[in-house]
Amino acid sequence: MTVRILDGRAIGRAIRTRITIDVDELTRFAGVVPGLAVILIGGDPASRVYVTNKMKACVDVGIRSTLIEYPDDVPAEVLIESIRRLNEDPVTHGILVQLPLPPHHDVRAVLHTISVEKDVDGFHLYNVGGLVVGDTIFSPCTPFGVMKILDHAHIPLEGRNVTIVGASNIVGKPMALMMMRRDATVAVCHAKTRDVAQYTILADILVVAAGVPNLILPQMVRTGAVVIDVGINRLPDGRLVGDVDFEGVSRKASFITPVPGGVGPMTVTMLLVNTLSAARRFVERTRGPILPPAHSEDIT
Ligand code: NAD
Repeated sequence: MTVRILDGRAIGRAIRTRITIDVDELTRFAGVVPGLAVILIGGDPASRVYVTNKMKACVDVGIRSTLIEYPDDVPAEVLIESIRRLNEDPVTHGILVQLPLPPHHDVRAVLHTISVEKDVDGFHLYNVGGLVVGDTIFSPCTPFGVMKILDHAHIPLEGRNVTIVGASNIVGKPMALMMMRRDATVAVCHAKTRDVAQYTILADILVVAAGVPNLILPQMVRTGAVVIDVGINRLPDGRLVGDVDFEGVSRKASFITPVPGGVGPMTVTMLLVNTLSAARRFVERTRGPILPPAHSEDIT
């Protein structure tokens, strides 16, 4: 079987080119530059790298980004008050709190303080619940990016068996809901699942987001399956790998995402899509529906 590589970098680049045009049009048309506020708490090096990447991506497409940093021990009230101020700030259209938070913070309270209209990570209860009934404003960036990759490759979802390995609130669960809304038949596995392979082997489309290197071996994958590897793991020798045995599984899959260069760049791209959309919604809310359609919206 000849495998095709789903190149998240290339798909992301195409979408970002269109976002650049949309940002420029919004600025010329409405005098509004989309603005993203990023809150980073504590000194976790991985979080800092993610934040730097996101902010650089903003700069590249013309989105204004602002970093707000707090030490590990910032009092909860200070953090909440800072988010409330950003909720009211007319030049901030999106707010992102980099996760994970240091353990003593109440992550739910923090995320639910973010205004639904500025929740560009899609983690507010309204946006999470919206995934069930279809009224979401912003979809969580990683599963949203996976959907874009599949749509870009014209991989049908309706009626197909989708197995998701990993059931976190930010990847696995929203992924399952998004697949169900597209009429896929979905199985979700997690760390307590007995015999993960009995589910993965049935999958036409396998999405893996567990954070365990080499979790998915070739004998667990159906010939011709589409394999999406969300995992990002740093090995002791410094290499970055996903959750899938890429070489082995590539011999059986019809499509596969690499790590790095698959889902990761799409996650950042979808953050840009959501921030642009938040700024457009702000303009439409405050001045009426005057905007031409965004070019980046019709990219699949
Ligand atoms: P998490 O730790 O919150 O959740 C992991 C999930 O995997 C849990 O549901 C757990 O039960 C399940 N799991 C763990 N071990 C398992 C096993 N042996 N078999 C089956 N299920 C198992 O993690 P997360 O935040 O969802 O992230 C998952 C992975 O995806 C990590 O490697 C993370 O770095 C990566 N990630 C990548 C992106 C991206 O943009 N590519 C975005 C978010 C997360």
